[in-house]
Amino acid sequence: MDTILDPKRTVAELKELRGFSADENGAQRVAFTPLWVEVRKWLQGKLVGLPVETHTDAAGNFWVTLPGESDRALLIGGHMDSVPNGGWLDGCLNVLAGLEVLRRINAQYQGKPPVTLRLVDWADEEGARFGKSLFGSSACSGNLDLDEARGLKDREGISLLDALKAVGIDLDRAKDCGHELESAAAYLELHIEQGPVLLDLDLPLGTVLGTYGVERHAITFHGQAAHSGSTPMNRRKDAFLAAGKMSQEIYRIADRHGGVCTIGSCATRPGIVTSVVEECRITLDQRHLDADALARMLAEARESSEEFAREGNVTVSWDRIWHIQPILFDRDLIGLCDEAVAKTGAKPHRLPSGPLHDAAEVARAGVPTIMMFVQSLHGISHNKIEDTREKHLEQCVAALDHLAEKTMHWIATKQPRSG
Ligand SMILES: [Zn+2]
Repeated sequence: MDTILDPKRTVAELKELRGFSADENGAQRVAFTPLWVEVRKWLQGKLVGLPVETHTDAAGNFWVTLPGESDRALLIGGHMDSVPNGGWLDGCLNVLAGLEVLRRINAQYQGKPPVTLRLVDWADEEGARFGKSLFGSSACSGNLDLDEARGLKDREGISLLDALKAVGIDLDRAKDCGHELESAAAYLELHIEQGPVLLDLDLPLGTVLGTYGVERHAITFHGQAAHSGSTPMNRRKDAFLAAGKMSQEIYRIADRHGGVCTIGSCATRPGIVTSVVEECRITLDQRHLDADALARMLAEARESSEEFAREGNVTVSWDRIWHIQPILFDRDLIGLCDEAVAKTGAKPHRLPSGPLHDAAEVARAGVPTIMMFVQSLHGISHNKIEDTREKHLEQCVAALDHLAEKTMHWIATKQPRSG
């Protein structure tokens, strides 16, 4: 009998995948490479015998469709691509767990579920080669910046345009895949947590509330270079002194608002041992799930930088590098995800996602979206040591399955008929 879910099969398939797509340094399923193409073929092979339609869209996303009573579609997504030397679960767990859910639904409903079920393997989620993540999903959501994409090159100088051409994708037409979302009624994505929150709470699963909004800025303090021996301490315009105060202040700011703040780089000029620092440039990355709180964190960082500049008799200037609004997942689906987690015997827990995911792009396109996280054993991702306990892997497949079932009925009751 094939009508029951078999989470052990997912674990076995993940190991089978690792067997031919990883080496001693980790997973090597980098998007648009020959190995990635081979992984896609392997995935296609897993669908033999299922009454599904498959195709690759204009942006290289791979779609598997099991038609249901209604055209309204429940989407389950993930990404088979990895960073170089990546983990064995990031992205492909989502797809293979989704495949197992599809098998169960197909068997239970004799090939005709109440709503259409679609599995999607997004192209180049990681952006490892061209430095731009969420390629396939942002093409689909309409947010992909084509002008920017045309200018992208990898380390060898190969353009994204040519790399895509080699696998049969025309960059200029990539956004044509937007129509794939027209029938989408909900989107589910399971993912390994890429941090230690669930691990520290000793919980196997979590409901993701949304992805953090991000404010990323370069802050430059301008002082005056002066000889380190002849300049008395009270006569200095030390750009580093002001910048250094920021490093402590951002911890207080993050603490007050419950977000995260990082000073990721610091460069000084002239940068020699015998000179007071004339110019100090630091970068600040601030993230929060709440847009107002994020705005307050940014405002407070600005005010403090100006205060520290005044105190040190230097000046300060700010340049925005990048920003994105927080993306909140669907309220109903958050509730259903909690229920699905509880149904496996785990305690429900809600948490934000620090990193962006394909799910964020789907949510931006207006599709009700939810993500579920499974505990990461070391709290580490994008590394060959990435791992999750097998019993948690099995549990997350079961939880995704419960969530899919609940969401199918949610779609059916919410949108009983559509044209
Ligand atoms: Zn991922």
